[in-house]
Amino acid sequence: MADNNRFLTDLSANELRTFMEELGAPAYRSRQILQWIYHDFVWSYDEMVNVPRGLRDRIAAIMPLHGLKMVNELTSRDGTVKSLLELADGKTIEAAFMPYDNGHCTVCVSSQVGCPIGCPFCATGQMGFERNLTPGEIVDQLLYYARRLKLTPIPNGPGFISNLVFMGMGEPLANYKNVWSAIERINAPDGFGLGARNITISTAGVVPQINQLAKETLQVGLAVSLHAPTDVLRDKLVPLNQKHPLGELLPACKEYAELSGRRITFEYIVFHGYNDTDRHARYLAKRLAGINCHVNLIAANRTEMFRSETPTGLDMMAFQKQLVDMGMNCTIRNSRGVDIGGGCGQLRSRIFPPPPLPETPVNPQTLP
Ligand code: SF4
Repeated sequence: MADNNRFLTDLSANELRTFMEELGAPAYRSRQILQWIYHDFVWSYDEMVNVPRGLRDRIAAIMPLHGLKMVNELTSRDGTVKSLLELADGKTIEAAFMPYDNGHCTVCVSSQVGCPIGCPFCATGQMGFERNLTPGEIVDQLLYYARRLKLTPIPNGPGFISNLVFMGMGEPLANYKNVWSAIERINAPDGFGLGARNITISTAGVVPQINQLAKETLQVGLAVSLHAPTDVLRDKLVPLNQKHPLGELLPACKEYAELSGRRITFEYIVFHGYNDTDRHARYLAKRLAGINCHVNLIAANRTEMFRSETPTGLDMMAFQKQLVDMGMNCTIRNSRGVDIGGGCGQLRSRIFPPPPLPETPVNPQTLP
């Protein structure tokens, strides 16, 4: 009987082995299938030509191979590809592929449909939360781009995916179990084989799960969307702050950096005149003092939902200089895919406009 809720890419290597045993297939069949999925990037059982047709048909009758398909795609002048992907239940998510001149290539994946955090500047935040993605739906976003790159190589461009970031739709640490399960198979030598240090989780600051992440053996990178140096301002920009304020979040970040031996990245979207004054720079430097960290400044993208001032290049450099002068590691991140609406949730919002903003603010009790 078909299992409509699971896909083959939802299974870990051990689960796949057990599944094959239950079908009476020899153990080497699961290794062949892993090879087809994670190294040959096949998208249908028909392509697994060294697996007997009868076995392929039996597997297909129980479990589809992948859990998503591409329904819309935009390519930026800078090579960034933004994809709208439809899940088996008809819901849609976004993912992005970003090739760089230095030969690196980063894929950005979603972890949830919608997002429970509700940041006012983010298109995804205005959609509300629909559901968590399964491990397979997360892995499939990476496999989709790996296949795309294999079928359509970029002339003189990167030949493989070197980095993965959880910076798409959703709060990855609010879907911890499935995100971690996806990371394990993306990292596994008989899975995608991507090094843990090339994987970054970006969070709005779910403190209990930052503490949990610090204890994991795989040392993935952590990026925290900070955007403000005071609780008063951050409560407005990142509503999760009402539940996990800076006094709780920053010590957890410090501990993560100490336990993992890895430098934390603080993402700071610059809303000109709103969070980039001299006072904000001083507060920021003071609050992050003593944390092994790096601050990434990102120019705000003006969206229909959040009509803030977009900083000029000079505004960005002036704010960066203040932080650097106070001893901080700080860079300005070049926004990618600006001409195609590269911000998270913008492609989906264009195709499926979200309902009007709720009149009541986000209830912190409902936050993760
Ligand atoms: S910025 Fe991130 S955490 Fe905030 S609403 Fe958007 S997806 Fe969620």
